[in-house]
Amino acid sequence: MLFLYAMKRKNILPASLANIRRGADILRKGGLVAFPTETVYGLGAGVFLPQAVARIFEVKGRPRFDPLIVHVASLEEVYTLWQSINPRVEKLIHTFWPGPLTIVFPKRETVPDIVTAGLSTVAVRMPAHQVALSLIREAGFPIAAPSANRFGHVSPTRAEEVASDLGDRVELILDGGKCERGVESTVLLGEGERLVLLRPGAISVEELEEVVGKIETVLPSSSILAPGMVKKHYAPSLPLYLFLGEVSDLFRCELGNWVVLSPFSLSLPGKSVVVLSEDNNLEEVASNLFGVLRELERSAFEGIIALPVKEEGLGRTIMDRLKRASSGIAEIKENRLILIDK
Ligand code: AMP
Ligand code: MG
Repeated sequence: MLFLYAMKRKNILPASLANIRRGADILRKGGLVAFPTETVYGLGAGVFLPQAVARIFEVKGRPRFDPLIVHVASLEEVYTLWQSINPRVEKLIHTFWPGPLTIVFPKRETVPDIVTAGLSTVAVRMPAHQVALSLIREAGFPIAAPSANRFGHVSPTRAEEVASDLGDRVELILDGGKCERGVESTVLLGEGERLVLLRPGAISVEELEEVVGKIETVLPSSSILAPGMVKKHYAPSLPLYLFLGEVSDLFRCELGNWVVLSPFSLSLPGKSVVVLSEDNNLEEVASNLFGVLRELERSAFEGIIALPVKEEGLGRTIMDRLKRASSGIAEIKENRLILIDK
């Protein structure tokens, strides 16, 4: 067993320059390379190689109607993907790139349909991670990459998590340690001068609005089905229920073999509690969330009772992921835990 375990992981290599070059070579030949970004690990293929991009969908088990994000290392590369740019988008790019902001804008004909699920727009971002940037530069073209997990599962924030989801179906996994942000990029749709939030992410709406003014958060009726919007997404294999009631009621309640997942410092004597940020820091909560969910999957607990954060700033993103990961709501009636499926 141990031997098999080691064999499975032989495609993980440290993200040295030599291995990044090896990865670039694999990409040029139409292979797949998983790589770290500041958000989560990505599963990459050369954007202009439709057969390689098709393998991303196969390996992840991702439906073909789910468009991918294209990662660039320079502004010149953006112009090989988008037809044009407008002043609002330009301002966003200058302020937030490289960084966890993805912008969806009308595409050039040369961007293969498989990348955009047949849509006339393409999602682009410049990651703030030296390994990702250097892989794109060495490859010589932008890289289409969704998160490097099985479709619907929690996104990976460590190289071993990529391996445990995708095994040796990916040629190379570049190990760059733990991803700092821990949640996916914010996705904005540019429709003319309008900017519409498609997915809350590592950059908050408040931060964006400070720079470019109003961001619309209600989808236009021509709503595009995007992966982050699929109902069952970011889900751990362990049942997770959100608890929105009084935390003190949990104390009197019989929780059996369930663990309480608390964003912030919490003491519940006699109960199993996992805290995401002892310093009550929202960025740390985001950074630890997916990794902790995966650790709990491997634990002996039967289920997770997750406590909420306030839905503002990065809290909106954290609540979005928790709601999607959840099977429903947990309530307490007469000191007993009641689970209500969504
Ligand atoms: P993931 O690859 O799992 O990080 O998800 C990709 C995200 O990109 C989705 O949540 C979509 O919102 C978004 N996306 C990518 N391409 C497009 C597009 N052409 N139109 C709308 N959304 C897109
Ligand atoms: Mg994903």
